[in-house]
Amino acid sequence: MTESIDHNRRRLLQASTLMAAAIPLSALVHHRTATAAPQADDGHAHDYVGDAADAEDHARYQAGQQCQDCRFWEGEVEGGYGECSHPDFADVLVSADGWCDVFAPA
Ligand code: SF4
Repeated sequence: MTESIDHNRRRLLQASTLMAAAIPLSALVHHRTATAAPQADDGHAHDYVGDAADAEDHARYQAGQQCQDCRFWEGEVEGGYGECSHPDFADVLVSADGWCDVFAPA
């Protein structure tokens, strides 16, 4: 009886090992760039602009403000663009040098 249980356990372990080997390594690696959100266009929300210099005539803009210094900035993802945690920018990347009218100092 014990031999049968050991045999079944050994077969289960072998099957598990084979199944794990069958999973491509690439399936386990998170490809952030493949799933990166699109870059926000100017005017996406809250008068967003990809270059803060273009906001100089905005009533709420103050010199030096830019996304990478905002409390909603979540860090760069690629090419100077990163995630913004403000809900109106949930599906896009914003420019580190960008700005919008809900800017809040970090
Ligand atoms: S909330 Fe902040 S980080 Fe997000 S787009 Fe506006 S200024 Fe940039």
